[in-house]
Amino acid sequence: MINPATRTKSIELSQIRKMFEVTNPNAINLGIGEPDFNVPENIKKAMTESIDENDTHYTPNKGYIELREEIVKKFKKDNDINTNPENVIVTVGASEALYMCSQAFVEKGDEVILPNPSFLSYEAVVKLSGGDINWVDCKMENEFKLKASDVEEKINKNTKAIILNSPSNPTGAVMEKEDIKAIADLSMDKDFLIISDEIYEKIIYDKKHYSPAKWSDNVITLNGFSKTYAMTGLRIGYLTANEDLCEELLKIHQYNIACATTTSQRGAIEALRGPQDSADKMVAEFKRRRDLIVGRLNEMGYETVNAEGAFYVFPKIDDEDFVSKAANAGVITVPGAAFGSNGKGHVRMSYANSYENIDKAMDILEEKIVNG
Ligand code: PMP
Repeated sequence: MINPATRTKSIELSQIRKMFEVTNPNAINLGIGEPDFNVPENIKKAMTESIDENDTHYTPNKGYIELREEIVKKFKKDNDINTNPENVIVTVGASEALYMCSQAFVEKGDEVILPNPSFLSYEAVVKLSGGDINWVDCKMENEFKLKASDVEEKINKNTKAIILNSPSNPTGAVMEKEDIKAIADLSMDKDFLIISDEIYEKIIYDKKHYSPAKWSDNVITLNGFSKTYAMTGLRIGYLTANEDLCEELLKIHQYNIACATTTSQRGAIEALRGPQDSADKMVAEFKRRRDLIVGRLNEMGYETVNAEGAFYVFPKIDDEDFVSKAANAGVITVPGAAFGSNGKGHVRMSYANSYENIDKAMDILEEKIVNG
């Protein structure tokens, strides 16, 4: 047996994926983290055309200039961020962007503040770069919204970075403008990096999304096409940051990936240039499902915050065996503790499944668990 590197040994494979492998194939899956919609037709056409045109060679490391120009316009329009194509890097999903951030900036002795609970990859990428985690609770009494005052208490001389994720996976929480601004101000005063994962920015209901990069220069803004355009398998994302930060990030990207896939880049250009009505329709449908699932869970006595974004709810469910009981009854969910210790006593349910299936899943829980 060849010994793995200590940092590789310090993390484990995702338990969530493992769980899907063992459960019954007829169960209704409320565990998934991807839209149940297909890639819009105009994007598919752009990708097919790119192959027909033999556009299958390397692109610039940072990505096609046409795509980076569209991304610059998008940042201006949606996020009030002024950037330029030289300070944009097209990545293999937001996942690669996260990995680049930690590899480029975090090392042994550094602490990274992470929301508790938060997306599983955050802890893994920090540990893979040798850093330590400093957890900050997202409290249910605050509807799981991360508060600047709680973050401030965690800052110390070793604080290198914080990862923000609004709207959040796994809670669906959307941070308040004043907290985002206050954390942005702190990053300038105390000299630490904000890695802002904005992948769910468009999946937001009756609320405005704010980017910390509007108020601080110490921010790397990450985004991608997986959620807004249902392009998960096409593995395409992007980031922007100031010139100095970008140069370091590019080193990791260049030697690891060279460039994101040509076909996906062509699809991404069309996604940004083309009509946005597919994304708008998807969000309207997600809202309808959110209302259904939050209503049904609260009626059953599982206290559930009316999450303002993403496609997850995070009900309070104290029964430790709930996830396995629900799986046996035919509904797959994910234990909240998988996302950090503060997720204990909660279950993540994704509503990236049809309205009918969600309704059916709630009937099953009501019959077999609540009344069972
Ligand atoms: N960030 C968050 C919060 C996510 O939920 C996900 C996907 N589940 C990602 C990043 C990764 O997205 P991508 O497909 O762009 O790598």
